[in-house]
Amino acid sequence: MKLILFDIDGTLVDSQNCIVEAQRRAFAALSLPAPLTREKALSVVGLSLVEAFDALTEGRGPSKELAEAYKNAWAQLRGELRIEDRCPVYPGVQQFLRDLSRREDCLLGVATGKSRAGVERLFDAYGWRDFFATVQTADDAPSKPAPDMFHRALAETGVTARDACMVGDTVFDMRMAHYAGGYAIGVGWGYHAHDKLKKAGAAVVAEDLNALRLHLDEFMQCVTI
Ligand SMILES: [Mg+2]
Repeated sequence: MKLILFDIDGTLVDSQNCIVEAQRRAFAALSLPAPLTREKALSVVGLSLVEAFDALTEGRGPSKELAEAYKNAWAQLRGELRIEDRCPVYPGVQQFLRDLSRREDCLLGVATGKSRAGVERLFDAYGWRDFFATVQTADDAPSKPAPDMFHRALAETGVTARDACMVGDTVFDMRMAHYAGGYAIGVGWGYHAHDKLKKAGAAVVAEDLNALRLHLDEFMQCVTI
């Protein structure tokens, strides 16, 4: 049995507009200058919140307060926008997940820097709850790229590291899989550049869902002993 672990933001849903806006509001709420280009804002997506603000402020913080303000900003955005507008699913992803979830040779999972509550909202909105055998969030384990989420997913499914693959859009996803002894496939439609994903340990980078499907087929045909 294989396990395919998916990142969410930048991999399954395109939440970049709200993430950038929530970061901007968090800095504004604390009357701090936002050190943000769009590229810099998106470079920290995938980290858990405190780690993300540590990176954005280069360790100067105050990261815990910024993380709280960011959560408040997301709460505001939930009141302003429908989930389909906050976190639209990338085209084709819905069918892609449905097809994969019907295969009998693999289990699916999620490893995300999102909160458990955020994941639950997304699953309810898109009907994804039954697709995933294991769900690891920022509330369950240390931030990527620490291997803990990956290890927890293996423990919950009984799959070995060499039979598990992380699919994600950032270097944090690739490094997490690498540290845990698993396989990593990058996706080229998210928030980190192709060459950075390769350097961080991606075996391949899929530029679209068709390519991802082929790479996953190859991974699932690998027999491990
Ligand atoms: Mg991501």
